[in-house]
Amino acid sequence: MTGYPDSVLNLIESFKKLPGIGEKSAERLAFAVITDMEKDDVESLSEDLKKVKNNIKHCKICNHITENEICNICNDKSRDSKTICVVEDPKSVIMFEKLAVYNGKYFVLDNLISPLDKIGPEDINIENLINRIKNEEIDEVILAIKPTIEGETTSLYILKLLEEINISNKSDKKLIVSRIAHGIPLGVDMEYIDSLTLELALQDRKKVS
Ligand SMILES: [Zn+2]
Repeated sequence: MTGYPDSVLNLIESFKKLPGIGEKSAERLAFAVITDMEKDDVESLSEDLKKVKNNIKHCKICNHITENEICNICNDKSRDSKTICVVEDPKSVIMFEKLAVYNGKYFVLDNLISPLDKIGPEDINIENLINRIKNEEIDEVILAIKPTIEGETTSLYILKLLEEINISNKSDKKLIVSRIAHGIPLGVDMEYIDSLTLELALQDRKKVS
């Protein structure tokens, strides 16, 4: 990588920290900044980057990304607040919302359980989910976590906790727990699923508890 001034080298190294950006793409992006972009655009890009990092936090209720304490979805009174869809990351919420196939509320986990990476149930915010189910009037919890090994481990763990809630619940009204249908190909990232597939997977969700 000789021949680059230091500032360009630093920029290339920064771009390489982005997902899917290797050496070549990083160099191309750096040249785009140097030769194609106006000074104003570069400044607003760097402002946007800072702003997004400083202003984005996690919704106190569902853990989705937001600029406020509570996100727009949790604040939306027109949505069905008795159904919670549990997803693994904010990207999944964005995808569900883009495809407009779901009108309930969400809960976003911090990660998936992965013993190999030393990520246990206590690391992924499950406690907040359980508290919410206990404290709010929830009819149904839909688990929409991808069926990888980590995803399955996480779904089964949550399922067990929800079953315990149902066992200790003495009233007739039990919590319905369902999982989206696994017509979704194994290991596919949720963001690559089209709206019809997801709509069918939601409609075809299986009651598991
Ligand atoms: Zn929220």
